[in-house]
Amino acid sequence: MKLLENKVAMVTGGAQGMGAAHVRKLNEEGAKVIITDILEEKGEALAKELGANTTFVKLDVTDAGSWEEAIKVAESVFGPVDVLVNNAGIDIMKPFIEFKAEDLQKLLDVNLFGNFHGMQKILSSMKKAGGGSIVNISSLEGLRGTAGNSIYNASKFAATGLTKAVAQEYAEYNIRVNSVHPGAIKTPGIEADDIKDTVQNYVERIPMKRIGEAEEVANLVAFLASDKSSYSTGSEFISDGGIMAT
Ligand code: NAP
Repeated sequence: MKLLENKVAMVTGGAQGMGAAHVRKLNEEGAKVIITDILEEKGEALAKELGANTTFVKLDVTDAGSWEEAIKVAESVFGPVDVLVNNAGIDIMKPFIEFKAEDLQKLLDVNLFGNFHGMQKILSSMKKAGGGSIVNISSLEGLRGTAGNSIYNASKFAATGLTKAVAQEYAEYNIRVNSVHPGAIKTPGIEADDIKDTVQNYVERIPMKRIGEAEEVANLVAFLASDKSSYSTGSEFISDGGIMAT
């Protein structure tokens, strides 16, 4: 039997990047997957490629109404949702003094309110399913501060607090909530020419001396989504080639 046989999973920001890797892995492990994103064309194409056990629903994580609609569609297609991967996230980097309040609001809208709306809206579906697993994708930047990344740090730390508190409140309903903290992972953003030198310098500091693959994070997400992680809730799971241990 596959790891996620009979599970229904929803992934936000699932059309590309790491989100698409999570979609592929959950699907490969037997879950029925609702791919959500604001990118309709890419999301539809991924669902078409993966076939009948996936469907695409447009979802802007900042919009509570959009969550209600998406969950309604998910339940009508596959039934109550067992797994939510809150993956959609954005970053803006610059010196702290240059940030405007609007920048912070924009990041909080996606990285914090996205998780807030998603968790609030999915809980009743998970109760119907008899339990569930919520995996909030954070970052190493949700565990430490980095110059130039202050408001991303703030948004990801806030989401970690939410993860831990909701885990406490919903443990009695067999609903687990954990966070995943990837280091530098091979995604389109990290392969841009203008940051090549910065990335190379960073790689030198990683004990494993390489950038991670999205599939390596997806394996961790699948484990947390599954019943194999049944005694883990409210915890932080790192996938970073060892850099946080230095
Ligand atoms: P990505 O390639 O930019 O994918 C994120 C997806 O979310 C995109 O399709 C994006 O669409 C979508 N999105 C943005 N705003 C949204 C919204 N309001 N509602 C729904 N979807 C929205 O990002 P990634 O690099 O794979 O990162 C995925 C997650 O991992 C993020 O939470 C990120 O913070 C975290 N992370 C990434 C790394 C890394 O090395 N890549 C490391 C640590 C943590 P648009 O392209 O239109 O914005």
